[in-house]
Amino acid sequence: MNDALDSLYREVVLDHYKNPRGKKKLAHVDIKNEGKNPMCGDEIEVEVELDGDRVKDLSVSCAGCAISVASGSMLYEVIKGKSLDEVKKIARIVKAMLKGEEYSTDGIDLGDLDVLEGVRKFPVRIKCALLSWTTLVDALEGMENGKKASVSTTE
Ligand code: ZN
Repeated sequence: MNDALDSLYREVVLDHYKNPRGKKKLAHVDIKNEGKNPMCGDEIEVEVELDGDRVKDLSVSCAGCAISVASGSMLYEVIKGKSLDEVKKIARIVKAMLKGEEYSTDGIDLGDLDVLEGVRKFPVRIKCALLSWTTLVDALEGMENGKKASVSTTE
């Protein structure tokens, strides 16, 4: 990664870390889940309000390192208003991006998420970046399977 991209990565991550976008209280919660990343001590709580098969609103409260908080904040920005199918697709893209696998954005606007590619340089931080995504997807799948998700941990 060149220096310009490196400083962009740092700037975007720090901005989300200092002002996490999704930290708020929802008036109505349809599904929620907690996640932990024991490797780093990151903890997260995700709440979702649905409108049919669409994420009407969500809240992401994360206590942890800069990467975990920033990733949760970006998740909030990108996921709000998306259909559940799109949410799962985006979560797969993020996973592939972090693991250095090939992916196609399929016309989805990833917002600031592309800077997460910078996390690949720090393998120990990949779990931090994945925490919010794993926690959200587990919550959605738990709902679809008709049971409440237990606390999620990053693989
Ligand atoms: Zn972390």
